[in-house]
Amino acid sequence: MKTFEYTAPDSLDEAIALLAKHGGKAALIAGATDMMQRMKIGEAEVPDCIVSLSKLHDLAYINVADGAVAIGALTSLANIERHDTIREHCTVLAEAAASIGSPQIRNRGTLVGNVCSASPAADAAVALLALDARVKIAGSDGEKQIDIGDFYTGPRESCLEATQIVTEIALPAKEWSGSSYQRTGLRRAMDCCVASAAVALIVNADGEISAARVALGAMAPTPIRVPAAEEALTGQVVGEQLLAKVAAAASAAAQPISDIRGSAEYRKDLAGVLARRAVGTAYKRSRGS
Ligand SMILES: Cc1cc2nc3c(=O)[nH]c(=O)nc-3n(C[C@H](O)[C@H](O)[C@H](O)COP(=O)(O)OP(=O)(O)OC[C@H]3O[C@@H](n4cnc5c(N)ncnc54)[C@H](O)[C@@H]3O)c2cc1C
Repeated sequence: MKTFEYTAPDSLDEAIALLAKHGGKAALIAGATDMMQRMKIGEAEVPDCIVSLSKLHDLAYINVADGAVAIGALTSLANIERHDTIREHCTVLAEAAASIGSPQIRNRGTLVGNVCSASPAADAAVALLALDARVKIAGSDGEKQIDIGDFYTGPRESCLEATQIVTEIALPAKEWSGSSYQRTGLRRAMDCCVASAAVALIVNADGEISAARVALGAMAPTPIRVPAAEEALTGQVVGEQLLAKVAAAASAAAQPISDIRGSAEYRKDLAGVLARRAVGTAYKRSRGS
């Protein structure tokens, strides 16, 4: 492997300046669980310089205020998985984080690294899509926030410029009454999923759904939402017919590829099965059962 310079700056400004100095020939790492592995097997280009965020301890936080949750860029997946508020109010995210890799991977790997890997199968990213997450980005021209749905531009591609750093994932205050993450993999751990579905619902006291989010992973070049399923659910009480409609909408929205983990046809079927299962589970949770 080509050699590279390694540096761990002490401040965000310094990290941004280093990225600018290397003009696209530097790469960021947080936990490095994705990046180092991809460099090793030749999937990612070896950069001239690796800029590690490991000394930016201020970016390791989960802040909860007025129902909104802010998650800093150095927060590990293990801390997401164990966080009481996230487990209770954003269950889909806790479940997605818990499904990733192994305890070792989750201790080192970050939520933001999962998002920035821009893999269509990134488990936590799919859950964040169902929670209307926003991505906070810092660069030499200041800070901005965008919807996570606008972050991805293709497989392993995002709108991030070479000198920009994601500093935070913000979950807006929403009274999700139930949510669920469902995935199928070739084995239970240490493998990316074949397919996944993330669902978040707001359900009123009569059991009627007032807001629904349905997202799919490994079904398109990027994680995707399924607006037809969300529209079908809104204003309805969940029953068998509605679940069948959701499954059909999810399968129709899926445009997967065939690869070593599964055929496109199998994935399309799975989209329906997992979306249906996720809606059913999220709805039961909303009703306290
Ligand atoms: C054995 C193994 C099993 C795995 N299993 C799964 C799995 O089941 N599900 C799954 O989704 N993933 C899986 N992964 C992938 C990976 O572990 C996760 O995506 C993890 O969350 C990546 O986080 P990280 O902090 O290690 O990212 P890093 O490797 O540090 O970075 C990943 C990418 O994000 C960029 N990046 C990181 N932080 C920032 C930032 N703040 N701003 C801008 N860009 C940034 C990096 O430049 C890089 O391109 C697995 C990896 C391995 C090695």
